[in-house]
Amino acid sequence: MKILVINSGSSSLKYQLFDMEKEQVLAKGLCDRIGIQNSFLKYRNNGKEFIKEVELKDHNDAIREVINALTDSEHGVIKSMDEITSVGHRVVHGGEKFYKSAIIDDEVLSTIEECIELAPLHNGPNMIGIKACKKLMPNVPMVAVFDTAFHQTMPKKAFLYALPYSMYEEQGVRRYGFHGTSHKYVAERAAVMLNRPLEELRIVTCHLGNGSSICAVKYGKSVDTSMGYTPLAGVPMGTRSGSIDPAIIISLIEHDKYDSEMLNELLNKKSGVLGISGISSDFRDLDEAADNGNERAELALEIFAYQVKKYIGAYAAAMSGIDALVFTAGIGENNSSLRKRVVTDLEFLGIEIDEEKNRQRGSEMDISKEHAKVRTLVIPTNEELAIARETLKLIGNR
Ligand code: AMP
Repeated sequence: MKILVINSGSSSLKYQLFDMEKEQVLAKGLCDRIGIQNSFLKYRNNGKEFIKEVELKDHNDAIREVINALTDSEHGVIKSMDEITSVGHRVVHGGEKFYKSAIIDDEVLSTIEECIELAPLHNGPNMIGIKACKKLMPNVPMVAVFDTAFHQTMPKKAFLYALPYSMYEEQGVRRYGFHGTSHKYVAERAAVMLNRPLEELRIVTCHLGNGSSICAVKYGKSVDTSMGYTPLAGVPMGTRSGSIDPAIIISLIEHDKYDSEMLNELLNKKSGVLGISGISSDFRDLDEAADNGNERAELALEIFAYQVKKYIGAYAAAMSGIDALVFTAGIGENNSSLRKRVVTDLEFLGIEIDEEKNRQRGSEMDISKEHAKVRTLVIPTNEELAIARETLKLIGNR
């Protein structure tokens, strides 16, 4: 059974083809600069890399090129498109309508379309990707896997803002949370690593990458998460501010004549660790600069780690305890010095890491001290595999 996973953005489209018998990646690739000059497809078939410069006017062209690459007579991984049994699509926002993945039919499509209003930058391109796929593969069943779905178990006290209640009822203004596929995947893997039922564990999962979010996973369910109505809330990120006093925005509008476009640019593109350091949004650059004595790079790393630490404490309180702490995504998986900054002085919660183990590189690792009450784990996330598994679960017996 071969499942194609699609993650469609506004000008890019990423894909992976899985053979689900061994959960093996047969091919993966990226169509970039869709609708822009110099578009190309970069892909890997059976471990071999290729780059094809090709005009990609729109997402239909992109999907067509993906199929061509997969079925190429010389280096393709399948003989024909018919070998693809189903397609799993990443969809960022499922609003309150989707608390789990859904087989895509007309009704599901129109509901996803309704959610575009909540996440225009993401759901619009996701929708275009789905439509392009359906056009080329009309008879292949497809599944939508939502970034927000895992967080639909949050109680009202965690997801409601202290704004007039009518804003929730009429405009859907509430915390939705994102990275749900990743938080769910690593929480499940944590239970496997610890050889304990997920239903008995209180886990704080830290997805730390260009976008970062923290999640409280109590007995297998998300009970709180740091991102909010949009992925701008929570901890500071590469270029995003994270949560700030909303009155700053009022002041910027009143005194500095900011409009919505300027605010968007400021809060999404110019803030976060880039804004603080003035150097880079990439933690590798910040580490290097801080090591060379750059004080603002050091400060950016300190602020980021401090905010993550505060969420860990908050979520331990929200769950009346913590059994495991998980680090994942680009920074969580690779940046040992940042992990150390985050967990330093959390011994009072039972979190103690072994510095030697923390420095090691591996796939899934338990980096806690032998006797530590809370297990601190590093677990590479795999959202594509999680989407493929969801797709198989829903389509498998059809
Ligand atoms: P992501 O959005 O999950 O791809 O994460 C991007 C972030 O992960 C960037 O800030 C990178 O600095 C960081 N990152 C990725 N790979 C490494 C690595 N090998 N060592 C340190 N940081 C890394």
